[in-house]
Amino acid sequence: MKTIRAIAEMRESLADARRAGRSIGLVPTMGAFHDGHLSLIRAARAENEVVVVSLFVNPTQFGPDEDLARYPRDEARDSRLAEEAGVDYLFRPSPDAMYPDRFQTWVEVEQLAAGLESEARPGHFRGVATVCLKLFNIVQPHRAYFGQKDAQQASVVRRMVRDLDLPLEMRVLPIIRDADGLALSSRNVYLTAQQRHDALTLPRALRAGLEAWRRGADPIAAACRGLEGLDVDYVSVADLDGPTLAAAVRIGQTRLIDNVRLEEEASAS
Ligand code: AMP
Repeated sequence: MKTIRAIAEMRESLADARRAGRSIGLVPTMGAFHDGHLSLIRAARAENEVVVVSLFVNPTQFGPDEDLARYPRDEARDSRLAEEAGVDYLFRPSPDAMYPDRFQTWVEVEQLAAGLESEARPGHFRGVATVCLKLFNIVQPHRAYFGQKDAQQASVVRRMVRDLDLPLEMRVLPIIRDADGLALSSRNVYLTAQQRHDALTLPRALRAGLEAWRRGADPIAAACRGLEGLDVDYVSVADLDGPTLAAAVRIGQTRLIDNVRLEEEASAS
C-alpha cells in the first residue's frame, strides 16, 4: 500500500492504471476505521482492480461548535487496517492542500441537503458535497463507496453525481452494527459504558418504528415513544433513495444518527 499526501502525486499514481483501463474504486473516509469502513473497503477491493481510500477529516463539514479538534484520529492503526484489507493507495491530503488560500467554490445540493441533519448542522452537506466532488476529481474513480449509515449524505452525493454528470457509479452499502444493534461509528468511542447502554435505545426505537410501519401504524410516533427520556434532535421519515425512518439523538456530548429503510426491510421479512 502506498500512502500519498500530495494531490498531484495521487493523480500521477493513477495515470497508468487509468490509461490501461483498470477500474478504480474510491472509499472516502474520515479515518478511525471500524468494521463499517472495512465493509466498504472490502466491497471496493472485490469490485475494482485499484482501490483508493481517502482519509481526510474534512473541516468544512464541521460546525464551529462541533468536534473537529477532538475527532478520533489513529493514523498508524488506520494504515495497518487499510493495508491488511488490500488497499492500494491511502490518500491523506492536508487541509491546506484541499482548501488553499482564498478557496471559495462550493457545491450546494438544495432540497436533499435541507432538513434532518442540516437542522443541527447547517452547512454540513455543502462541506460534504464539495469535498466529495474534489475527491472524485482527483481520483476519478469508476465506483465510489458510501454507507447507508449516513443515509442523507449518500442521497446528497448521489444527487450531485447525477446532477453534475459525474462519470462514476455510486455504491451504497448496508449499515454494519455491533452484536447488540448499535450502528458502528467512529464517534462511539466518546461514549461511557452507561452512555453506550443508553445509546442502544436508538436502534431499538427505529426497530419499533419499522414494526409499527409494517402494521400500518405511524412509525414516527412509535420511534418517539421508544426514545422518551433521550435528547432527540429529530425523528423523521424522508425519501432518501426510498422511504427511510431516520433519527438523531444526543447522549451527553455525543450526537448519534441511525436509520432504517422502510421498504427494503419490509420486503426482506
Ligand atoms: P466516516 O469516516 O464516518 O466519514 O465514514 C466513511 C464512510 O463509512 C461513510 O460513507 C459512512 O456512511 C460509512 N460508514 C460509517 N459507519 C458505517 C456503518 N456502521 N456501516 C456502514 N457504513 C458506515
